[in-house]
Amino acid sequence: MTATKVTDGQVVSMEYTLRVDGKVVDSSEGGDPLEYLYGAANIIPGLEREMDGMSVGESKTVIVSAADGYGESDEEAFIEVPRGEFPADIPLKPGLEMELTGPEGQPMYARVESMEGENVVLNMNHPLAGKELHFDVKVVGLRDATEEEMDHGHAHGGHGH
Ligand code: ZN
Repeated sequence: MTATKVTDGQVVSMEYTLRVDGKVVDSSEGGDPLEYLYGAANIIPGLEREMDGMSVGESKTVIVSAADGYGESDEEAFIEVPRGEFPADIPLKPGLEMELTGPEGQPMYARVESMEGENVVLNMNHPLAGKELHFDVKVVGLRDATEEEMDHGHAHGGHGH
């Protein structure tokens, strides 16, 4: 039996628009709704909490504090790297964004904060760290998660794994 309200074990389809400082930074508009497994920490906690009990067709505006979103900006996430460790063809300058590979092969976001002599200061904070998030969300579908999805802890949609 498929629940009619958002609860654990449901795959939620939702349309969403995320605004930060009044600007749209992410939106499902013009694309497919986001499908995610509720209750498995697949989305930020401050949003997931507010979606509990929503019905199909219901919309809501959710304001999520930085702490409940991508976290506060962390001073320890600023690191200095010698220029020589970057490929020569990268135009290093403040504001440049790049994706690095972490110790376990995971993608890590970084932004050049400043240049200090022969060193580059990288800001490894998530780009939305320290920001209040304004979500407009609408639940457009609900279905029971499959056993496999529950096992994996995420929804299997049309976008591969
Ligand atoms: Zn999976």
